[in-house]
This record gives sequence, C-alpha cells and structure tokens, in this order.
Amino acid sequence: MSRRQKIRFAVIPVAVAFCVFSFWWPQVNVIATLLLLYITLEYVLANQENLDLFRHQLERQEKVFLHYDLICRNGPLYLQVANLGISNFLLTAIHVRTQDLAKFNYSIHQVVQSGKSQEISLPRDACANHPLSVDLEIVLDFVGLDARGETDPRCFNIGMGLDNIPYKATEGLNGLWAVSCPRCNFGGMLFMSLTNLTTFAEAEARKRQLVAELGNSCPNHQSEWLMGMADVDARQERQAR
Ligand SMILES: [Zn+2]
Repeated sequence: MSRRQKIRFAVIPVAVAFCVFSFWWPQVNVIATLLLLYITLEYVLANQENLDLFRHQLERQEKVFLHYDLICRNGPLYLQVANLGISNFLLTAIHVRTQDLAKFNYSIHQVVQSGKSQEISLPRDACANHPLSVDLEIVLDFVGLDARGETDPRCFNIGMGLDNIPYKATEGLNGLWAVSCPRCNFGGMLFMSLTNLTTFAEAEARKRQLVAELGNSCPNHQSEWLMGMADVDARQERQAR
C-alpha cells in the first residue's frame, strides 16, 4: 500500500465519524475546524521546506565550481581548467602578477563545459628576465549562468632553464625574493624567507616588515624574516632536482 493510500484510509473514517457525530453533537464542528487549521499549517510548513530545497538546488546549479593547475611542458605553459559544477562557464581573462609585482593581463574567450577540463595556453612573457625561477600569482575571470566573478589568487613557482625557457611549474612560493636595506642600500645577498607564506598579499606584508627591520638594524641588517644562507643553498638544491 502506498503512503498516499495509507493516509487516505486513515483520514476517510475520521471524516465520516465527524459527519455522523455532528448530527447529535454540534460542538464537534469546532474540533473539526481546529484540526483543519492544524493540517493546513503542517502543509504550509512542508511546502516552505520544499521551496527552500528547490531554491538551494537551483543556486547550486548556477554556481561556478572551478579548479585549475599550472602545467609546464619544458617550454610551453598551460592552465588546465576543470569545471566541477553543473553548468558551463566562460573564462574571460587571466591576470598574472610576478614576484616583482609586474602585471600581465590576457583576454581569453573559452567555454569550459560541465564535467570537462580545458587546456589554456599561457604566454611566457611573465617569466622573461627571471634567470633562475619566478613566483607567479594567477587570478582567472569567469562568467557563469548567474553571475561573473574571479577565482581566489593562487601562487606557482616557475623554474627557468637555459635561454629563459620555463621548465617546471610547482604550486606555492619558492622564488628568491631579494631585499635591500632602505638606509644604506646594501642588498644583493639578502633574501626574504618564504616560510608559511601562501599568497602575494602575505609576502608583500612580510617584505614591508623585513625592509623596515633591515633599516632599523642598519648596519647589522637583522630580521627574523631573512633567509639564511643554508636555506638559500637548500632551495637551490631543491630547484635543481
Ligand atoms: Zn643598511
């Protein structure tokens, strides 16, 4: 027996009983009205829940779920963009910042279908003039069914080979961030420690603090955010591997 039939079998005898009783005892009408009101209330509440569920589903359907990685194949750079949402989206721009805060903006026009991934080639000019390696911050602009938006910034390190050709891309910050003393201009061998940094915003804040500390401790040039020479060597070894 279906659920609907069960309810029907339960309700019909009650309704008949109310009809019969109301001949002898008119007050039963009040009870029937109260019951009716209560059932209506339950109905309205259930309906509201359904509406909320429907709205939530619709919102999810229109939302953009995007994941991407930066891939380097011994020269060419690619963004591999995956669409994990239910609807398609359009990529309209790639914004790249380098660790020395140069900005590169590229207009693109590429639809990524739901459940698919696309390779989008990334020009290499952002990596030019960085002989060893360079940290990049990437933000993508997208247009979805409901709204347009941009991704959270993500950072990658590009290892550079001979002739300014990128050969490796890894997630996270791993470049050499050179700093110099604002008072005596001493620099060249001073680098910022990147420990526990994940975004350029954090890196810039640390760099400001580091430069201020170098100036304050001039000519000793001391700061907890300076990369030790052991770290520099270890980092270069990691890069070479
Ligand atoms: Zn100094």
